[in-house]
Amino acid sequence: MHEHTPRKTRKVKIGKLAIGGSSPVSVQSMCTTDTSDLKATIDQIRRLEDAGCEIIRVAVPDMDAAAKLSRIKRAISIPLVADIHFDWRLAVEAARQGVDKIRINPGNIGDKDKVREVVKAAKSAGIPIRIGVNAGSLKTLQKTPNPRWKPAEWAEVMVKEALEEVRALETLDFRQIVVSLKADDIERTMLANTLFSEKSDIPLHLGVTEAGSFLSGAVKSAIGIGLLLTQGIGDTIRVSLTEDPLTQVRAAYEILKALKLRQYGPDLISCPTCGRCQVNVARIMHEIEERVYSDKTLLRRAEGKKIAVMGCVVNGPGEAREADFGVAGGKGKGIWIERGKQIKVVKESEWVNEVIRKIRSLK
Ligand code: SF4
Repeated sequence: MHEHTPRKTRKVKIGKLAIGGSSPVSVQSMCTTDTSDLKATIDQIRRLEDAGCEIIRVAVPDMDAAAKLSRIKRAISIPLVADIHFDWRLAVEAARQGVDKIRINPGNIGDKDKVREVVKAAKSAGIPIRIGVNAGSLKTLQKTPNPRWKPAEWAEVMVKEALEEVRALETLDFRQIVVSLKADDIERTMLANTLFSEKSDIPLHLGVTEAGSFLSGAVKSAIGIGLLLTQGIGDTIRVSLTEDPLTQVRAAYEILKALKLRQYGPDLISCPTCGRCQVNVARIMHEIEERVYSDKTLLRRAEGKKIAVMGCVVNGPGEAREADFGVAGGKGKGIWIERGKQIKVVKESEWVNEVIRKIRSLK
């Protein structure tokens, strides 16, 4: 899988980061806070930075939010993207405020003159624009509100509209463009992105929009985004879940790790438990995850390490053999194992701390 050849895309600079070219697939998310609430927004972005988020987008619903973007930008260290719908003047103000990218949905931004103003502002600020085409808000739907298109026809309309916008921007000599083509189902998302990638070298931001709650959304995103990535399509990803954005970032990295496209944090493995289990493996795993993924240092030190938590000593040590370290449970205690060797006995109440101590001791 990791030998797949990424599609050759043009390189687009977003702050210190690049999307496309030979850059690694980056992970992004979107704040759920009211952008005008500076404290809440900055706190959330900082938590996301610690969890590995590489690009953050905020909604800019009005001038009050737009006017606060420079203060958010100064307080964070990852590129900031302004998400604009309906009002081109908000995009112009966002560029003036120093954001690193603007996302517009041309379907609702209005006529060409308004888009031209946005391009002018982005050009003078030296920032890229993402053209975000969503299946649910296509311009064509204004004329054909309830189309009976097959998925491939939806994909064609999505790509046609995206390419029209690309042309409008390129005619103005603007080439720092990223495109996203999102639908709320895998089929249209895949068809649209595959078709677009055959026609353009513009980097693609992948996502299945409104994917759903944690389980259904993560599964849909993993399949939709994952299948495209295995074909070498996709330059940056956002997993949309009706969840804390921290979870979205985790899910995005899990997709990239599973495809061996990025390394991030440890590979935590645990057994599903069965009637032999006498410890709460789920709680212990959850605590380890919480602690590791909320601490940049732990994440870095644990990178690439396989850490196992197994529910019993019957199969646990065998199953944990390939792990770098871990613990296999009994009643109230467990055996600490390092690379298949049984090292010591650890009380159940100390399992989480022992794993964290071990990670801290790593270089
Ligand atoms: S490791 Fe033990 S508790 Fe876990 S599934 Fe295997 S046999 Fe059951």
